[in-house]
Amino acid sequence: RANAEKFQFQAEVSRLMDIIINSLYSNKDIFLRELISNASDALDKIRFLSLTDKEVLGEGDNAKLEIQIKLDKEKKILYIRDRGIGMTKEDLIKNLGTIAKSGTSAFVEKMQTSGDLNLIGQFGVGFYSVYLVADYVEVISKHNDDKQHVWESKADGAFAVSEDVWNEPLGRGTEIRLHLRDEAQEYLDEYKLKELVKKYSEFINFPIHLWASKEVDEEVPADDDESSDEDETPESKSSEEEEEEESDKEEDEKKPKTKTVKKTTYEWELLNDVKAIWLRNPKEVTDEEYTKFYHSLAKDFDDEKPLAWSHFTAEGDVEFKAVLFVPPKAPQDLYESYYNSNKSNLKLYVRRVFISDEFDELLPKYLNFLRGLVDSDTLPLNVSREMLQQHSSLKTIKKKLIRKALDMIRKLAEEDPDESNDQDKKDIEESSDSNEKKGQYAKFWNEFGKSIKLGIIEDATNRNRLAKLLRFETTKSDGKLTSLDQYISRMKAGQKDIFYITGTSKEQLEKSPFLERLTKKNYEVIFFTDPVDEYLMQYLMDYEDKKFQNVSKEGLKLGKDSKDKELKESFKELNKWWKSALASENIDDVKISNRLADTPCVVVTSKYGWSANMERIMQSQTL
Ligand code: ADP
Ligand code: MG
Repeated sequence: RANAEKFQFQAEVSRLMDIIINSLYSNKDIFLRELISNASDALDKIRFLSLTDKEVLGEGDNAKLEIQIKLDKEKKILYIRDRGIGMTKEDLIKNLGTIAKSGTSAFVEKMQTSGDLNLIGQFGVGFYSVYLVADYVEVISKHNDDKQHVWESKADGAFAVSEDVWNEPLGRGTEIRLHLRDEAQEYLDEYKLKELVKKYSEFINFPIHLWASKEVDEEVPADDDESSDEDETPESKSSEEEEEEESDKEEDEKKPKTKTVKKTTYEWELLNDVKAIWLRNPKEVTDEEYTKFYHSLAKDFDDEKPLAWSHFTAEGDVEFKAVLFVPPKAPQDLYESYYNSNKSNLKLYVRRVFISDEFDELLPKYLNFLRGLVDSDTLPLNVSREMLQQHSSLKTIKKKLIRKALDMIRKLAEEDPDESNDQDKKDIEESSDSNEKKGQYAKFWNEFGKSIKLGIIEDATNRNRLAKLLRFETTKSDGKLTSLDQYISRMKAGQKDIFYITGTSKEQLEKSPFLERLTKKNYEVIFFTDPVDEYLMQYLMDYEDKKFQNVSKEGLKLGKDSKDKELKESFKELNKWWKSALASENIDDVKISNRLADTPCVVVTSKYGWSANMERIMQSQTL
């Protein structure tokens, strides 16, 4: 094209495209899902802008927020068009080629090891999946602030952008034209497209239309029809038809002047039901629908089911509907970026209009692993994001979301037969879905346990609720995870405190002299072996009126021994000598104690001092 400006793809993007083009990945269908998802994002953006400025939508067809799919079998082109926000020339250059997103190299790296292209959307590079099925792609786009432009590329390392002086004006939005590869002709089949939209784009909140063929009955003049019929297919007539014709002739007099024939016409066929899942009655939504909805929200199309979900309506001063999900897996960087990013994974809608998926104010940091959506009727629509962020209702929404989230996690534990005490076990095992729930809480704990601990540290209001969700191993748990409630139920008569010990591993701790006597006396001691546990125990002082006692610290009381007094008396002098001998060391005190069994002496941390484990952590500065 004469007026085209040429650009090179950014190096990482170019590598990504090579991988996609040469991929043997069999599930090429995903390109359609990615394009529809982009169209939906673009529609969300223009709808959001229209809240404060109605003019942006324009009039007539332009104002219809929809997605259209059309195919041209002869030219082998698939068209996907939206009336979304569109892209300026600069957007086209940046978004589709020159600016690599942070996910690009991560995705390229991942492709080299696993090759599962299905996750492409999660990495923010879904657009390039078009090259799974096309060898030449045109993106025609019109943004309100610019003229219409065409982006095009044959994925040969370069792309071109030109002002569009050939195609019909789009009004506003984007049309993607895929010139399909020979081996991807199946995407010119209407049924295939309908099936894909149904499968992948069920939860898109804008109408998706397909320019679909339809057989209709048409009245045509009877004579014309007969002659043309004969001309076209004289030899294909069956004897039945001939007979019919003969009888037609007999009744020539009475015959009407017209005849009905089948004719193929085209019309826009709606492919999706745009009733949002969160507006439906939870009783009428199936598990499978929730699972699929989760996949579309998380752009995670592994077949795994979310671990739990909660779908509810909040009423009262602040009204909203929400669906929360516990994902089946934690993302790799969940804790790496914990202190730098506050990005929650909840989508915020106000009265069905998508507002943002980067709202920090909806959930506390420690619950950022949850996925889901909130749709509020109380929040105002026609204000900026910044204003919304300040809105007083957000506090109430947040509070309720935390409650519901913690309830959901508690239920996950309660319904897991592995979690219950033996007594309740029978009842639960009799319920039909217990097999499915078995081991789910351990899985949750493995993936997200650290989040619960961070919650105990950060959220004083819900500390007790969160403590209920804690799991750990103990001297008596036999390699299994146990809870504080279970620990308490096993406490010895007269035992006042909950005993725990901190260290790097259970194996190391099992050998600790601090445990000798406790084990002998049949006390249970909790093992805390995660570095974060040291911090956790600075915040978790008590649970259900029981104090926590670190057994390596001062203050351990195992009940009075009759010989205590006697012993203290007889070792008085030795004790004095010890104190003076250690005076130059960092030692506060020397005490006679009943905490040991076989080991003669041990260094104990003072009540408010750092445990030896904490010293070690501080030295290595790891959390
Ligand atoms: P993501 O959707 O995760 O941002 P994509 O690779 O799918 O990543 O798309 C890249 C970018 O291209 C989008 O962020 C958007 O800015 C732009 N884009 C893609 N498709 C459209 C479209 N139909 N309308 C407007 N912008 C689009
Ligand atoms: Mg996308």
